[in-house]
Amino acid sequence: MLAGKTALVTGSTSGIGLGIALRLAQLGARLMINGFGDAEGALAQVRAHDPKAVYHGADMSRPDQIAEMVRSCESQLGSCDILVNNAGIQHVANVENFPVERWDAIIAINLSSAFHTMHAALPGMKSRNWGRIVNVASVHGLVASAGKSAYVAAKHGVIGLTKAAALENATTGITVNAICPGWVLTPLVQKQVDARAAADGVDDAEAKRRLLAEKQPSLQFTTPEELAELVVFLCSPAAQNVRGVAWNVDGGWTAQ
Ligand code: NAD
Repeated sequence: MLAGKTALVTGSTSGIGLGIALRLAQLGARLMINGFGDAEGALAQVRAHDPKAVYHGADMSRPDQIAEMVRSCESQLGSCDILVNNAGIQHVANVENFPVERWDAIIAINLSSAFHTMHAALPGMKSRNWGRIVNVASVHGLVASAGKSAYVAAKHGVIGLTKAAALENATTGITVNAICPGWVLTPLVQKQVDARAAADGVDDAEAKRRLLAEKQPSLQFTTPEELAELVVFLCSPAAQNVRGVAWNVDGGWTAQ
């Protein structure tokens, strides 16, 4: 279904981004992946579906490296047709205790990086009059939780950026949308499970149950595979008139 298309997924060495990259590659897209940690392991998994997949190690807090990554995607893969802005980090603390350096990093990686990738990729998409931009926001782009000021501000910003870019491109073949997961069990969330287990003096399973019970009525984690299917739909011809949405996959979190 995606044969002939190229895709750049930021933060795709683990978790949601890796799940999305794997599914796009399975469906025939040519992939550039990005992120820290086990890049070789992630690339090997993606190459099982797209033997020519490539990796770029750009730091999403660095605009110069982001621009270079998009240029490299266009020169190595021939274009950047599908852009998934997924890289993200978290830090939990109340505003008065929030380290300034963590605020700056979260705004840079979770919000500004999506502007920088789009800024670099849109001219090429416009020249071909086709593009799909999917920004991985969060339920925290729609509602807040205490202790997550930087993350909530960044994710609300991502949804605003998505809407503005969708409108700017509304009469073109380029769509821009956001997806808003609730709890997904990835390394980013496992850290919060560990913190909950330590704070409440409970085991891993009970910490997960408590985390879900607090916010996510389905009492189930959303999976990277489920999110990848939504990205595939947004990339499909059927979604050509889906523009500027913030689509939650949150087990009912924001319905409350
Ligand atoms: P994760 O920690 O498994 O993956 C994050 C990815 O981003 C990794 O590949 C990491 O290497 C990369 N990354 C981090 N800093 C980077 C940087 N400076 N430059 C380049 N890459 C960098 O986390 P995840 O849960 O898969 O999160 C992916 C996205 O989904 C994030 O934007 C997150 O906010 C969002 N999200 C996650 C959840 C959840 O419950 N896990 C819920 C809603 C939204």
